[in-house]
Amino acid sequence: MIPYGLHEIDHTDINAVIEILRSDFITQGPLVSKFEEKVTYYCGSKYGVAVNSATSALHVACLALKLSSGDRVWTSANTFVASANCALYCGADVDFIDIDLQTYNMSIASLEEKLKVAKLENKLPKIVIPVHYAGQSCDMKSVFRLSKEYGFKIIEDASHALGGKYCDKLIGGCDYSDITIFSFHPVKMITSGEGGMALTNDKSVAEDMFLYRTHGITRNQDLMKIQSLGEICDFQQVELGFNYRMTDIHAALGVSQMRKINEFVKKRKKIAKYYDKAFFDKPVTTPWQHLDTSSSYHLYTVCIDKEQCGKSQRHVYDEMRKNGIGVSLHYMPVYRHPYYQSLGFKIGYCSNAEYIYKQIISLPIYPKLKVEDQDYIIHKMKEVLK
Ligand SMILES: *Cc1c(COP(=O)(O)O)cnc(C)c1O
Repeated sequence: MIPYGLHEIDHTDINAVIEILRSDFITQGPLVSKFEEKVTYYCGSKYGVAVNSATSALHVACLALKLSSGDRVWTSANTFVASANCALYCGADVDFIDIDLQTYNMSIASLEEKLKVAKLENKLPKIVIPVHYAGQSCDMKSVFRLSKEYGFKIIEDASHALGGKYCDKLIGGCDYSDITIFSFHPVKMITSGEGGMALTNDKSVAEDMFLYRTHGITRNQDLMKIQSLGEICDFQQVELGFNYRMTDIHAALGVSQMRKINEFVKKRKKIAKYYDKAFFDKPVTTPWQHLDTSSSYHLYTVCIDKEQCGKSQRHVYDEMRKNGIGVSLHYMPVYRHPYYQSLGFKIGYCSNAEYIYKQIISLPIYPKLKVEDQDYIIHKMKEVLK
């Protein structure tokens, strides 16, 4: 089966990991700091906090922004569950914003409308988490403007978007947000096996995230709270944190992969262009791109309009899979998951997200996808839709 996404590991990656296995540090050591430096330097932000997943990064990000019970988080309906779960981990409530029908990103119009109502009801969110779907940035200037007007914090879920650009700058610079998080899961832009990172330009937010990463324990004398007792105390727990550390084994892979980020993005863009061209005169709608953005193309999502091509999404999905092509679907709106329905969310809650969910399919895209395989995918798509 040709998968929808796949990592690319070469001998330099393998050697980088072997080297660490032979060294004195296996868990969080010098490679974790090096990985943080590499990513922050690339993205143009001041601080990076590497953790064991993007899910953990979202959690420490919410904690550092002081999210707690009674607070509200809003995120896009069209995302992976982790973008919403982080709010619930902190005891906060979560709600969903409908998407734009062109970009499939959070709709600014829907966000603004919901904010107006929430203000009247005194139920404004503390944090909004825009998700850069497929690697294409949200309209961050507008989200930022609204954050000033309504007083909320912003965490960019850029799990798909390392190497993507917004207004000619790499995503991750946190120009229009408090924190940006990345995922290094194997299907994402680069991999560390499992891993994530939270980037910020705010020193105290970064310090808090470092604390929450390691049990809420500090070794910094200035941050310690008991000082004058004359007792020996190498470290103190000053907050309730977690063990979300990344190992040096994972970080070594991450550092090695970062050397290839531009090459990975280039290859993905080439694949996307090839699909764009192949489907130029239909039968499917290719991903629309806003002029302010340059997508990293974590995903390549096509839209199958049943009226137009006479074939349903279900039919295309089943036929492609029968032919060994691992097409996928990103995403079922988060609130449709049984767990979220048990919290009271109803099917149909965000009409645009539902409309898209019933028409989209993710075609395979990853750096080492072969041209022959892509030709086969395109050929089968056209055959299935004939
Ligand atoms: C993959 C993903 C995550 C979670 O990443 P992990 O590193 O697997 O925890 C969060 N949000 C989005 C949008 C993702 O695609």
